[in-house]
Amino acid sequence: MAMFNCPTCYKTIGELPKSGTLLVLCADCHFKYEVLRGRLIERTSVRVGGPNNDPIRRYVFRLDVPNRDADSVKFARQGIEEVQARPGDDVVIVHTMRGRHREEALAVHNLTTGDSFAINAPGRKSRATAEAWASPSVCSLAVGC
Ligand SMILES: [Zn+2]
Repeated sequence: MAMFNCPTCYKTIGELPKSGTLLVLCADCHFKYEVLRGRLIERTSVRVGGPNNDPIRRYVFRLDVPNRDADSVKFARQGIEEVQARPGDDVVIVHTMRGRHREEALAVHNLTTGDSFAINAPGRKSRATAEAWASPSVCSLAVGC
């Protein structure tokens, strides 16, 4: 069984569902995550700006999730590399949650191809402030918390 690691602490905090949704709160960093896994129905990507060597694309992923309606996930991502997935691929999309709502899309993992695409770091907006005040007590991503 594949496990889900906290994208901030790299600690194992849950079991990756075969399909469907995992909601999990990390006891260490207190971020709440939604891990959505399903078969890709459709992926669209539209370039919405950015320079040619660092374009911004807006994506819509529609996933087939058992026992409920197809789930649409929308996010924007900047980078020359496009998030790749084909219909039928086994796809995992990770979000941070604020209450019951998706806040930021963090990553797309294509389990069929083995590719992972980072979208955002958790709490990037608040972390930018924290980094400006960086001190040794701020835990490093490399070693985990
Ligand atoms: Zn964590």
